[in-house]
Amino acid sequence: MSKRPRGVQKYCDDCSEHVPDYTAHLRSIKHKNNCLSTSVGGIQELKSAFKCRIVSYRVTADHQFINLIEFMAALAGPIKKVVRHQLEVLGCVKANCDLYGYFILEAKGKGEIKAFNTRNHVLTINSDLSKWLEDVTSSFDVQASSFQEKDSGWALQHWLFIEVNINKNSPLWGSTYIPTPPSIARKRAIVNVKNTDVACFGWAIMSAIDTPTGHVELPSSYRHYSEVFNFEGIGLPRKTRCHCQI
Ligand SMILES: [Zn+2]
Repeated sequence: MSKRPRGVQKYCDDCSEHVPDYTAHLRSIKHKNNCLSTSVGGIQELKSAFKCRIVSYRVTADHQFINLIEFMAALAGPIKKVVRHQLEVLGCVKANCDLYGYFILEAKGKGEIKAFNTRNHVLTINSDLSKWLEDVTSSFDVQASSFQEKDSGWALQHWLFIEVNINKNSPLWGSTYIPTPPSIARKRAIVNVKNTDVACFGWAIMSAIDTPTGHVELPSSYRHYSEVFNFEGIGLPRKTRCHCQI
C-alpha cells in the first residue's frame, strides 16, 4: 500500500471528523481523549493505532501536583502495576513514558498542555521497575527544568498525567541467547542451546537432563521446558542470582 501523503484529509472514527494530518492527529490530546476507557483506580487504557504499540495507559493522580518528584511517587504504584501486568503476559516489552503538564505564559495570558517523553527501555519480568521509574523521573526532571529555564516564559501550573506506552520488543531482543566465547567453545565441554525466546534458562536445564534427539545446540532436540518445569510466577528470562528459587 502506498503511503498517504501528508496533508490529505482522513476521517477519524474515534473523533467523528476529517483531519488533515492523521499521524499527527493520532498523537493529539484531543484524539487520545476520545480513545480512553473509563478510569479504574486512576488508570485508563488508551486505544492505539500504532502498529508497534501493544497498549498505552493514562495514569492520573487523585489531586494536583506541582512537585514532579511527589507527582511521580504518587503514580509509581499504578504505573508499575500496568507494566507488571504486561510483563506477566509477554515476558519482555519496550516501555516509554510521556509526562503532561499544564503551563502558563503569563506575558501573553495563555495556557497550554506541554508534554515530555522518555526513550524506550527494554523491560523483562526480572527488571527492577523502581529503578526504571527513577530513571524516567530524572529524565523528566531534566527536560522540564530546562524547558522552564529557557527564556520561554512558560511556567508550570500543575502536572496532569503520565502516559505509559507498552511496545512490542523487536525480534533482535526477543532471544536471550548469548554465543559461547571462542576460548570456552574450543574445549567442547559446554552445551549452549541457541534459543530464539527469552527462556535460555529453561533450555539450559533441558540440555542437562534430556538426551538430545538432534544437534545439541538446537531447542528442537529437547522436550519443551514447559512440559517438564512450571515457571509460573518465576518468569523468564532469569537473572543469575534468581536461580536459587528453582
Ligand atoms: Zn481522532
